[in-house]
Amino acid sequence: MEGEAEFSPFGKVLYRATERCPICGNTSLEVLELLYQVPFFGNLILYSYTCHLCGYRHVDIQYLEEKKWRVVKYVVEDERDVVETLVFRSKTCSIYSPELGFSIDPGIMSEAFITTVEGLLYRVLDYADRMIVLYESATDKIEEFKRKVEEALQGRLNFTVVLEDPLGNSIIKPPRGREGKVVLESLITPSEI
Ligand SMILES: [Zn+2]
Repeated sequence: MEGEAEFSPFGKVLYRATERCPICGNTSLEVLELLYQVPFFGNLILYSYTCHLCGYRHVDIQYLEEKKWRVVKYVVEDERDVVETLVFRSKTCSIYSPELGFSIDPGIMSEAFITTVEGLLYRVLDYADRMIVLYESATDKIEEFKRKVEEALQGRLNFTVVLEDPLGNSIIKPPRGREGKVVLESLITPSEI
């Protein structure tokens, strides 16, 4: 998918191997563990398992610092924010944007992922397309929503991305030099970096 950064060079490879796939049993499971050192937040590890033979895929994120219920907010203001801001989203995290009017709950897309804001918005567009198929009567509303998201993709809208994670495994990594724009809304002390 466009904008995805799951195997981005931002991460340091801790472990890479081909192992036995739990689904098809072939030695075709690509295992990758990446360490991400994120200013302000600390370290986290991305675990990625992909089987090219049967299509099995699993991603998980493990945050290594102090974990507490946490709300992270970031206002996306231009194209650089869209393209360079990374979202680390764990399985237990809700993502929403009040201005764009979407909400991804843990039950809907329960897999962990790392993506750019751009990649996140493409996921949202995919989801909107599936909604159109399911709820034909709401097509006009959904089309209007998609136009808004497409504008946001081009950096022409200011909007807030909010991550809410009861287990505190989800974070936002803004473009270099914009760390001060990240807002934490819960009673926590961010790890010292
Ligand atoms: Zn397999």
